[in-house]
Amino acid sequence: MTVADLAELEWDNSFTRELAADENTLNRVRQVHGAAYSRVMPTPTEAPTLIAVATELLEMFGLDHEIVENEQFVRALTGNAAVAGTDPHAMCYGGHQFGNWAGQLGDGRAITLGEVLTASDGRQTLQLKGAGPTPYSRTADGLAVLRSSIREFLCSEAMHHLGVPTTRALSVALTGDKVMRDMFYDGRPALEQGAVVCRVAPSFIRFGNFEIYAARGDTDNLRRLADYTITTHFAELLEARGVDPTDGLLPEGIYVDWFAEVARRTADMVVHWQRVGFVHGVMNTDNMSIHGLTIDYGPYGWLEDYDPGWTPNTTDASMKRYRFGAQPHIASWNLERLANAIYPLVEEVEPLESALNSYVSRFNERWPQMMAEKLGIAGFNPELDQSLIEGLLELLPRAETDMTLFFRGLAEIDTASSLIGDDELLAPLASAYYLPDQLNGDHRGAMIAWLRLYRDRVAADGQPDSTRRRAMNSVNPKYVLRNYLAQLAIDDAEQGDFALTNELLDVLRRPYDEQPGHERFAAKRPDWARARPGCSMLSCSS
Ligand code: AMP
Ligand code: MG
Repeated sequence: MTVADLAELEWDNSFTRELAADENTLNRVRQVHGAAYSRVMPTPTEAPTLIAVATELLEMFGLDHEIVENEQFVRALTGNAAVAGTDPHAMCYGGHQFGNWAGQLGDGRAITLGEVLTASDGRQTLQLKGAGPTPYSRTADGLAVLRSSIREFLCSEAMHHLGVPTTRALSVALTGDKVMRDMFYDGRPALEQGAVVCRVAPSFIRFGNFEIYAARGDTDNLRRLADYTITTHFAELLEARGVDPTDGLLPEGIYVDWFAEVARRTADMVVHWQRVGFVHGVMNTDNMSIHGLTIDYGPYGWLEDYDPGWTPNTTDASMKRYRFGAQPHIASWNLERLANAIYPLVEEVEPLESALNSYVSRFNERWPQMMAEKLGIAGFNPELDQSLIEGLLELLPRAETDMTLFFRGLAEIDTASSLIGDDELLAPLASAYYLPDQLNGDHRGAMIAWLRLYRDRVAADGQPDSTRRRAMNSVNPKYVLRNYLAQLAIDDAEQGDFALTNELLDVLRRPYDEQPGHERFAAKRPDWARARPGCSMLSCSS
């Protein structure tokens, strides 16, 4: 059964029902104490128009595909029509930004409509990003521009189809309003088109939701939020302890169980990021989902040439705190902030420390396994195979080597014939090099030596090349949202042409498949994109 109206969904707004509301209902910027959220309505917009919809999410909610033709639906997804059953609000949270406590942040431009109980995907929260100011907008306008909205929409869906835990995006729409942005922070603001993304996730609770209470010494609300989060979103942890959540107080140890679970999920998420070459760009604690989902797509980027020191975020250009290679460590640092925040509920350091170690142990177990899968090693032996992995990671940054193309090419290496010439050995990898001249001299020799070790190693698994190739191609994507591809879609969209946005959405649904006819979306970054803003570097202005 499908429905034709958002009001017919099974709305069940547990967050606003169970947690403290801001008593002040005026939509004015302020510090909000003793509350988890403020009720606020989206701001109506001039001329809402849909750009793209993820039909998978229509299906998740049991909505008719035809609903996209319905004007009320478009109006609802841009904040122009109230939907019966929703309870629009903005959440209060704080966060550590670039290593420093930043105080209250909150949903400055995100308004949650409410939660839907879906038939097969449990509780799902719908949130509009860019729907107007809230009490948490600080000095900003509560709006989002087209370029950043297309980037968020496409990337969240691409990540989902890659198998990376992420918030989803149901739709992206133009608001019809103009938004002033100083894109390069160089004192030359310009008007851009406004847009709204409708995001979807079990919840949008972040590490920062807990940190704000801890920072203010509000242990009552801290406990209330933790209890709510555990009973609503981590009920399996209570079940594992044989606890009935309706009994009232939760058992003491549950907070540590829960923190360890958040740590494990965060580790799994970061391992996936490292697998596909995703750089989040702003791993502040307010951008860390309690579910271990990738959240808040801002100045993120995809590794083109494999460079662990790369970050797309120009705001972070000097420190490179959030560079690709630092993500695993930063996630752990962020978890430490969460551990500190919930300490008042545990009041013992040791169990929290050991739970924090579950991040390290999970990461140290999963990361080598993931690398072995990327290399197509079947009988992976962490001790014996470690040097092969390390050897490759040392070689890759020495020449500008496209990460995505390299691993797809590696799957093509032939191990059947016992004798193979150097040229033949390197041939499947040639297209991965940005500067073919770099595959000369020492580097060429070192790469050939590594490839010969690699061939011997995978041959020792005793499986046919075709089996290895299939396995590798199921973890090494052919299609990722290359930075320049997103920019091309944005260039067209800014002219009112949304075909490329929709075509990319479609191609990125099957990132591991060959998809003949779509090879141009698998090509390495063209030269024009090397230094073009939006392609290789992004500011936080969005
Ligand atoms: P971010 O770094 O994008 O995760 O944002 C950090 C904080 O700034 C969050 O509290 C956001 O809600 C807020 N914020 C970012 N952009 C805007 C905007 N245009 N208007 C209001 N608040 C914003
Ligand atoms: Mg954020």
